[in-house]
Amino acid sequence: MLRQYELVEKVKGYDPDADEALLNRAYVFSMKAHGSQKRASGDPYFSHPIEVAGILTDLRLDDETIATAILHDTVEDTVATPEEVERSFGPSVARLVDGVTKLSKIEAQTENERAAENLRKFLLAMSDDIRVLLVKLADRLHNMRTLHHIKNPDKRRRIARETMEIYAPLAERIGMYEFMKEMQTLAFRELEPDAFESISRRLAQLHEEGDDLIGRIGVGLKLFLADNGVAAEVQGREKHPYSIWKKMAERHVSFEQLSDVMAFRVVVDAPDDCYRALSRIHQRWPMVPGRFKDFISTPKRNGYRSIHTTVLYDASHRIEVQIRTRAMHAEAEHGLAAHWAYKNGRRDSPAAEDRAWVRDLVEILEHAESPEELLEHTRLAMYQDRIFAFSPKGELIQLPKGATPVDFAYAVHTALGDTAVGAKVNGRVAPLRTLLENGDQVEILTSGAQEPQSAWLNFVVTGKARAAIRRFERAKERGELLALGRKLLDEITSRLPAPLGPDGVRQALQRLHLDREEALLEALARGRIDDRRAMEALMPGSTGPGEGRAAPRQRDAVSIKGLTPGVAYRLCDCCHPVPGDRIVGVRRDSAGGEQGIVVHAITCDRLSDGADCDWIDLAWGEGAQGGVARVAVTLRNEPGALALIAGIIAGHGANINNLQLVHRDREFHASQLDVEVTDVAQLMRILAALRATEAVSKAERA
Ligand code: MN
Repeated sequence: MLRQYELVEKVKGYDPDADEALLNRAYVFSMKAHGSQKRASGDPYFSHPIEVAGILTDLRLDDETIATAILHDTVEDTVATPEEVERSFGPSVARLVDGVTKLSKIEAQTENERAAENLRKFLLAMSDDIRVLLVKLADRLHNMRTLHHIKNPDKRRRIARETMEIYAPLAERIGMYEFMKEMQTLAFRELEPDAFESISRRLAQLHEEGDDLIGRIGVGLKLFLADNGVAAEVQGREKHPYSIWKKMAERHVSFEQLSDVMAFRVVVDAPDDCYRALSRIHQRWPMVPGRFKDFISTPKRNGYRSIHTTVLYDASHRIEVQIRTRAMHAEAEHGLAAHWAYKNGRRDSPAAEDRAWVRDLVEILEHAESPEELLEHTRLAMYQDRIFAFSPKGELIQLPKGATPVDFAYAVHTALGDTAVGAKVNGRVAPLRTLLENGDQVEILTSGAQEPQSAWLNFVVTGKARAAIRRFERAKERGELLALGRKLLDEITSRLPAPLGPDGVRQALQRLHLDREEALLEALARGRIDDRRAMEALMPGSTGPGEGRAAPRQRDAVSIKGLTPGVAYRLCDCCHPVPGDRIVGVRRDSAGGEQGIVVHAITCDRLSDGADCDWIDLAWGEGAQGGVARVAVTLRNEPGALALIAGIIAGHGANINNLQLVHRDREFHASQLDVEVTDVAQLMRILAALRATEAVSKAERA
């Protein structure tokens, strides 16, 4: 365990201005608070926060972060209070400690209990201070290093899984690759002990074949190239066991077949040198077929340039060799984001770039309706690998893999997503569901008349897009229900025996114990209040048999014009009513989760099933949109008969949506066609034309 003065000296070593007194106070405070608590290892508990602080000094973090690390478990695990921490260490450290404590609390809950509220507060705290996350990751790393002390295997596995699924990806996201690798290695050892053991054993065998095999091959390559007139820097590395295992799983190969257990990077001055080095290496060692790639003559879409090859080194080792110039190397290391920042003369810290996803989360949190919805979005936002796409102005947008132009549009601005009608990807018009790739330039085409489409939910992958579309849908559904409720209320009012007074609706609301008129409209649309109850509320006694009252008038037809199919009403799928048919509506059972009205033709068989339902007389209204009618046709079995009737239907300006063969024998076949028509008159003309055709023996509505 680091001693007090060692820790302080480490911080002073990279930051001479660090607040020494703050660190000393934190050390003593934490030691006293944790007192005689013990870790599973038997070590004093206090050793844990000090080790966590030590990990963070390796990253050269500031004094407040180090103090936070020392204090990070005091509020959660001891009698210390947030107030004490604030009094002793100031508001800034107190806020950081609070952030780490909140995340620890969320962690302690089972997955489904993780309260959205806690997560929200934590993320809000974190979004303006990424240091909370750094402390949490160091905390998790140290807990992984000491995981083997925990006796309960289920608990060990749970912690390892969580590390693999949540913390390692988080570390990767903010560029802490060393953290990521170590977490993956430790979690892998716990989750797949046999695979870990076997891969480690083989790596050890490689080591046994000589001390520092990687070092020797590296020096061998460098000397060989120098002898052949190519000055090069050579770096060698060994893949860590988890990444080897992942490669084996992805490529379905064995350890022996895996060629890049050892990988070498040859860095030279000029592009010419790359090809000279390549040709010398291929002349000296046999290349492994199928593994050679020239990303210098054909760069990857994200701009990555390098030559990759695999050779059989000294007849016994397959080694991967990447050859590139210094400039190409710098670009590959810092990625597209750095390249872009450099190009634009900007140098945002990587942490700031990556904080964008935290901001996305905060936005989702503020608009999500339920904790489940929230967790779904956060998982999506956190776990997916990212791609980079550009706006026409060169702005870089980070998106998860699998993102589409709709995700891109919502990532830029909610209004851009809401009005998107199409996209140009790299200058060519592309559908909104196109999968974007790294480096794509995306221009969103918009129209003021467009609104978010439910169908987009089938392909968007960002939580932000999903939340925006759902939000819009909910608002729209509500609007539709209110419009339907308004029509129903007007119709009910018109049936009252006397005109409704100016206060009538307000009084009805009181009688129904509703607070707003909207609530009444919604209840009518959802069928929670039936006509009789509504009439009684509006005008008590109006539905009774009482004498002297005007008998309630025959109800007027409610027009469905202006309402949206799907939300306010649905056309029956057995009788297929089309404009011109006489129709009635049956309220759907609101308990079944469905809303609005099912529209049936008055002749529909299904109407007799629910004779006691609440029927509403409906009218199509002027200029109603067409519908799909189902037509049964019996044809003589002769060549070209089907084509003939398809021609007749098309000739009347109608479309065949679906065709199904119902029955077929030697002489006849019976088919069922779904035909899109504007109204019943058009349908009748089509049926008459069909019947007039010699090949048709029967044509009628199904
Ligand atoms: Mn801890």
